[in-house]
Amino acid sequence: MSTLVAGSTYPPQLTDVERDNLVLAIKDWSIGNGLAIRPPPAVIPINADPAGIAAINAPVTLFPSQFPRICFEQGKAVQQTYNDLYAAVSRDEDFLAHIVKEVADGDDFIRNLWQIHLKVKQEGYTQPLSLGLFRSDYMVHQDASTTPPSLTAKQVEFNTIASSFGGLSCLTSKLHRYLAATEYPLIKEGIPAGSLDLPESSAVKGLAGGIEAAFNAYPPSELGHPKCIIFLVQGDERNVFDQRHLEYQIASSSPKAPVFRLAFSDILTYTTVANTPKRQLLYRLPRNPEKVFEVAVIYMRAGYGPGDYPDQRAWDARYHLERSAAIKCPTVLTQLAGTKKVQQVLATPRSSSAPSMLGRFINDDTPAAGDLWRTFTNIYPMDTSEAGLEARQKALDPVTCQAYVLKPQREGGGNNIYRGAIPGFLKSVPEEHWGSFILMELITPPPVSNLILRNGKVEQGGVICELGVYGTCLWNQNSGEVFRNEEAGYLLRTKGDKSEEGGVAAGYGCMDSCSLV
Ligand code: ADP
Ligand code: MG
Repeated sequence: MSTLVAGSTYPPQLTDVERDNLVLAIKDWSIGNGLAIRPPPAVIPINADPAGIAAINAPVTLFPSQFPRICFEQGKAVQQTYNDLYAAVSRDEDFLAHIVKEVADGDDFIRNLWQIHLKVKQEGYTQPLSLGLFRSDYMVHQDASTTPPSLTAKQVEFNTIASSFGGLSCLTSKLHRYLAATEYPLIKEGIPAGSLDLPESSAVKGLAGGIEAAFNAYPPSELGHPKCIIFLVQGDERNVFDQRHLEYQIASSSPKAPVFRLAFSDILTYTTVANTPKRQLLYRLPRNPEKVFEVAVIYMRAGYGPGDYPDQRAWDARYHLERSAAIKCPTVLTQLAGTKKVQQVLATPRSSSAPSMLGRFINDDTPAAGDLWRTFTNIYPMDTSEAGLEARQKALDPVTCQAYVLKPQREGGGNNIYRGAIPGFLKSVPEEHWGSFILMELITPPPVSNLILRNGKVEQGGVICELGVYGTCLWNQNSGEVFRNEEAGYLLRTKGDKSEEGGVAAGYGCMDSCSLV
């Protein structure tokens, strides 16, 4: 059981009947309110649902996990500084060129993205505005060397593309608040109503608000078309309701901003770039091709990994978007700013001989920058610099490697190499390509316990929680002027402490919300 609060047991012990009641309440509330995903084929085979009408509740914890208030506040407080930082990184072409050079030898994907930027730069970008819907992810690091042990939110990674789960995170905090009012007080060892501190997540309004701000900043169409927003998605997306909740929010708060879903593989079929100096992106409605819209904003929930680029046509499609006048969320440069290599370089402290790289982007001596520094953990290059050679030693040693995770420049889960698997993996990769990885110290959160409802079954045991804090930022890529910079709600994801990856859609993690302690 959780040890965060001395003298209490959390979550409470459940009898079998109590657990069944709670599961029933969660199953119904989830479908009733859209805390749902499309089922994986292993749960409902395609031939059992040929019309694709089935939805199941998203994997979720039975109770909100206890999360240190101090770390929650820390993550929220630092988000606007992070927004500014990543807007600034995305504007620094020389810096990104250097980063790409460091990793591109072992990484075609990053190299191809950079080529798109170079090509568009040559003909000139026509859209100065850039939209970021960011999410900074943290785990609680417990330092046992102090009494009492100190707790700090340490950054796992910073996402600049397809930051997901905003929609489901709001619903999960609502679900847990509902259960805290109706179900938890009825448990024998129950939790009295009103005794938990359960912060609501504002992610849906926050993220949708960012998209709406960009839509409004895009001028009326000179070509006489209505404007629209495109959600660029993967054709086989199962996490579709998470995205839909953002659409529904936009439909209710900005009814004059139509949203269309477009599969990444359909970009060149249904959009054209106008043959004008502005290069407006035009979207022809597939069901009614006389209806043409000018795309004001492209919100990408696809295109973040090599899987979306099976052939040259897919790369052509990304180039086609990038050279258009639509406001991109994100641009190629902002996507590159979100690489783990950038995170490693930013997190490298200043030495007696060299200033910090962070200082290139924000004043690194302010209290706000101090708060940001506190979220960094040790991350090392794997190149042939002095620090890189030291890291290689740690990574190859079967004992020291146990404290690390090795990461390539990839997003979306399932790409990292952990602990004892690192030396063998490295030996399978040509040494010239090691520089495309970074080596990160493992964050060691305090033990927390919970129950997870996944695919109708309850799993119980130790869990690890990961806080995500959303941020929205709209800025001018040329002048640096920032038009919007907001913290935009939170996500808590939880995984069994035996699982190393935490992606909910990837099937390892589940949705959760914070019970602040
Ligand atoms: P991705 O871009 O694939 O999401 P992440 O850097 O977020 O990559 O890593 C995936 C998962 O691996 C995280 O959600 C977390 O559970 C785990 N992880 C990553 N870095 C660390 C770390 N430094 N300490 C502990 N766990 C980590
Ligand atoms: Mg992640």
